[in-house]
Amino acid sequence: MRIKQAEFVKSAVYEKDYPIELNNMEFAFVGRSNVGKSSLINSITGRKKLAKTSKTPGRTQLINYFKVNNEFYIVDLPGYGFAKVPKEMKAEWGKTMERYITSTRKKLVFVLLDIRRIPSEEDIEMLVWLDHHNIPFKIIFTKIDKVSNNEKSKCLKDIKKKLEFYDDDVFFHSSLNNTGKENILNYIDSLLIK
Ligand code: GDP
Repeated sequence: MRIKQAEFVKSAVYEKDYPIELNNMEFAFVGRSNVGKSSLINSITGRKKLAKTSKTPGRTQLINYFKVNNEFYIVDLPGYGFAKVPKEMKAEWGKTMERYITSTRKKLVFVLLDIRRIPSEEDIEMLVWLDHHNIPFKIIFTKIDKVSNNEKSKCLKDIKKKLEFYDDDVFFHSSLNNTGKENILNYIDSLLIK
């Protein structure tokens, strides 16, 4: 798929504030803070500053909608796993996420995991949560430029001690050199109604 256009539409917390649905499905991205979510959204849309990095926990509570090719939405979900976030903010994050997950929006959620890290309890909880609500999801391993092929195999072996998946059912991506970008875009394209 060629990206001709990508723009920020709006931020939302409640379902009533989500933009009017486009196409048959939207594509949400979630992961722990620093996993490379903003970089990945910028990489696949080819817009360097579309998604802003979420260094400040205060910015993490909103769901950001981006419209691509006037055809579908990319949904930037708030990141999790900030070390120093107050309890109330974590609860707020949970509510915003739950509203999104249980909303009537037709969606596919990409869960981002850093290839070099063993998935955290929060990562696992996220996957279990999606599964529980029957939300289709796919795993994207990020920052794969940081590992050699040998290291990648070793990382996957370690991650599989915590998480079951088939290698050909997950995506591998690098925002540094855009590896894996086409696979993700082609997958999205294959799910859209033309
Ligand atoms: P977010 O908090 O999940 O949105 O993560 P960011 O996109 O802000 O990225 C967090 C940090 O990881 C930044 O310093 C990025 O430059 C770096 N980063 C993100 N993606 C990649 C990648 O694919 N390769 C490398 N080498 N660094 C990355």
